[in-house]
This record gives sequence, structure tokens and C-alpha cells, in this order.
Amino acid sequence: MVKAKKGIRRQLLLVVLLPIILLGIIIDCVGIALISELYSDNIYHQLKVSTDVLLSGMDLMESGDYSFTDGVLKKGNANIIGSEMFYSIKEKDDIDSTVFWGDTRVLTTLEDDTGRYLVSTKADPVIAENVLENGSDFYIKDIIINQKHYIGYYRPLLNSGSSVVGMIFAGKEKNSFYHEIFRILLWFTLFSVAAIAAAGYVCLRYCYKLENDIDLLGGFLGNIEDGNLDSDLDENLKKRNDEIGEIGKQVSKMRDELKRLIEVDPLTLLNNRRSGMKKLEKLHASGSDYTIVMCDIDFFKKINDNFGHSAGDEVLTAVSKMMLESVEGCGFANRWGGEEFLLVYALPFEKALEKTEKLKETVQSRRFSFSGKETSVTMTFGVKENSFGDSIEEHIRIADKRLYYGKRNGRNCVISEDHEQ
Ligand code: GH3
Ligand code: MG
Ligand code: MG
Repeated sequence: MVKAKKGIRRQLLLVVLLPIILLGIIIDCVGIALISELYSDNIYHQLKVSTDVLLSGMDLMESGDYSFTDGVLKKGNANIIGSEMFYSIKEKDDIDSTVFWGDTRVLTTLEDDTGRYLVSTKADPVIAENVLENGSDFYIKDIIINQKHYIGYYRPLLNSGSSVVGMIFAGKEKNSFYHEIFRILLWFTLFSVAAIAAAGYVCLRYCYKLENDIDLLGGFLGNIEDGNLDSDLDENLKKRNDEIGEIGKQVSKMRDELKRLIEVDPLTLLNNRRSGMKKLEKLHASGSDYTIVMCDIDFFKKINDNFGHSAGDEVLTAVSKMMLESVEGCGFANRWGGEEFLLVYALPFEKALEKTEKLKETVQSRRFSFSGKETSVTMTFGVKENSFGDSIEEHIRIADKRLYYGKRNGRNCVISEDHEQ
């Protein structure tokens, strides 16, 4: 068989893996962009909510206006400086907060390099302008406080009559924001790469299996092409329920049909001479005990002459059926030519002889009716056991010799030993 080029694997990998990889890259890029966007939104809301929480917290402490005298920030009569909630937000969410009196920090969780709180320092003039003068919230994605970059949310601190007396700030250091987003993106990327790798691995295995099964199918076809009709379809291919399995089954059927056409005689359905010989060679090579019987229908020409060729065919078919029954389970029957047959019994001589005698009786007792006339046929048999050392041809020659001795000596008999004449 001509070996095919190994192109299918490359094609399959290209068709299956490339889209997975491209899709993976697209999903990753879109995912990273979406996550970054979502996280930015999330930070905005987190900071805004933090200022809400702090303002509500201070409102809950006591009603009344804010005041700042002698370094003490009060809400009504409550001292806010001592409030723990600023530090707990810092601890829980890593969010810094500050209360400004005017544009000056009077309470903050922000520290300088030496660990001192950044109180008494001033807000950026841009912030002061937006929040204190305009009285509105201000969100800024990048504000430098003590040489560090922050994302910050500012709200005005209002006393009764909506007068702005200061600001409240909630902010996250950008480094920590980047660190968090990087951590999320890293996990997302790891998961997506793992998913792509798993999908790729499954596809790769599928491609290899497919290629392997196609190779097996090709091998099976090659065997048939080489005339090896005894080769069988691989078990794994038989189990496939898809188109490849179906093709395999159809090729198997084709092989069976070819085998039948090549090996079986169409009229009698016995093995033809060629396949009979092959089977006998196999049996002989196995060293098993066997006995061969060469046999021929007596005066068969008369059947043809008296009742026509189709009557002759009918007799051949009927006799063949009797022979098949005789060898069933213990050998095989072969049409050797015309009305001559070779029976092979995988049995010791005595047992085969018994079977042959019985077959002779069966043939003889069978009645045929052609054109309203009854008739019957007889057969003559030459039997030869497998004596080790002799070739198949020698066995056949001796069985043939015995058959023709029987023909010369009255027919309708079984000859199982050599005679002088
Ligand atoms: P003998 O007892 O000596 O064997 O005599 P015979 O008449 O059987 O032998 P012979 O060789 O003279 O004749 C065999 C005949 O078998 C001749 C041939 O036309 C016929 N024959 C061979 N093959 C077929 C077949 O397939 N169908 C039919 N109907 N006849 C066949
Ligand atoms: Mg004959
Ligand atoms: Mg003959």
C-alpha cells in the first residue's frame, strides 16, 4: 500500500487549535480590559461609600454643627478626634481617610515616612477650590499626598445652612490599587490560560486519536489491497459509533463479500479449490491430526444427459449440503472441480472413516425427482490419513489414487487403503 502523507494532523491542529488560541487571546484581552474597568468603577463606589459611612458615623455620634477649637474637632459636643471608625476602615479596606477643617487636615489616617499622622497639612489647592468653594463632591484618579499617588474622593463637610466648613476624604494609595488589580488579573490570566491549555489538550488528544484511527483504517484497507482477507478491523475502530467507525464496518463487509467471492464456490457454497488448499495448508502446518477424503459423484454425466444441466446443478447443491453437514464442527468441504470434492476432517482416521461411510449412505438414500422421474446418485470416496512427514500433495495424490481405484472397482464405495491395481 502506498503510505499517505501525514497531512491530516497538521490540518486538524491548524483548524482546531488555532481558533482556540486566538479565541483565548481575545477572551484574555477583553477580560483584562473589563476587569480593569470594573475594578476602577468599584474603587470609585468604595471610596464614595466610605465617605458616606464616615459622614453618617459622625452624624450618629451627635446632631449639631461641626466646630474646631484649640485643636479639637467636635460634632455638637462629641469629640471626633477620638473616633475609631477612621482607623477601622483603614484596617478593614485599606482606605485612608481625612477630615479637613477648611483646607487643613485635622484628623487623618495618612502618615509621613516617620509614622507621624499628616495633621495640620493642607489640601491641594485644586481640591480646595472644587470642594470648599463649589461645595460639590470631587473624585480624582491621581492626587499626590506626601509624595505618594492616591485615588481620592472628597466631600464637603456641611454645617446647618449648608455652609461648607471643611471636607472629608477617602482614598486608596495607587500602588495598593495596582497591586490588587494585578493580583486579580494574574488569577484571571492563570485560569484562562489553564482553561485554554485544557481545551487544547483535549483537542490535541482527539486529533491524535482521530489520526491514529484513520491510520488503522488505512492499514486495514492496505491489507485488503495486498490480498490479506483474513485481516480484521482493529477493536478500537469497531467501537467507534461515528462516520469513521461506519466506514470501518462497511470496509469489513466489503472484505467479507470479497472473501466470499474469492473463496466460495457460488453454486455449492463450499470453499473453492484455492481457498480449500489454503485452509488445508494451514491445518497441515499446525501439526493437527486430520484425514482427507477425495470423492466424486458416480455417473454424474448421465444426470445431465437425462435430466438437463439444471437438474445436475440441483444434485450438486444437494450433495454439497450433505457434505457440509458431515464436516460441520469437525472440518471443511471443498469443491475440487466439476463433481469432484475434497473433504477435510480434523479427526483421526477411524472417526473420519465412520463419517465418510455415513455420508455415502446419506447420498445414496437421497431421492431426486426430475421431470416426474425418480432418481438417485452414489459417490465414491478415497480416504487418506495425515501421516507425518508426507506433503499435502502426497496425501492428495494417494487419496485420489484410492478414489480412482474405487471407480474402477464398482463405484459407490469408500477406499481407505492402497491396492495393487
Ligand atoms: P464417473 O463416475 O467416472 O465420475 O462418471 P461421471 O459421468 O461422473 O464423470 P465424467 O467426468 O464423465 O462427467 C462429469 C460431468 O460433470 C461432465 C460435466 O458436464 C458435468 N459437470 C461438471 N460441472 C458441472 C456443473 O457445475 N453443473 C452440471 N450440471 N454439470 C457439471
Ligand atoms: Mg463423476
Ligand atoms: Mg469427475
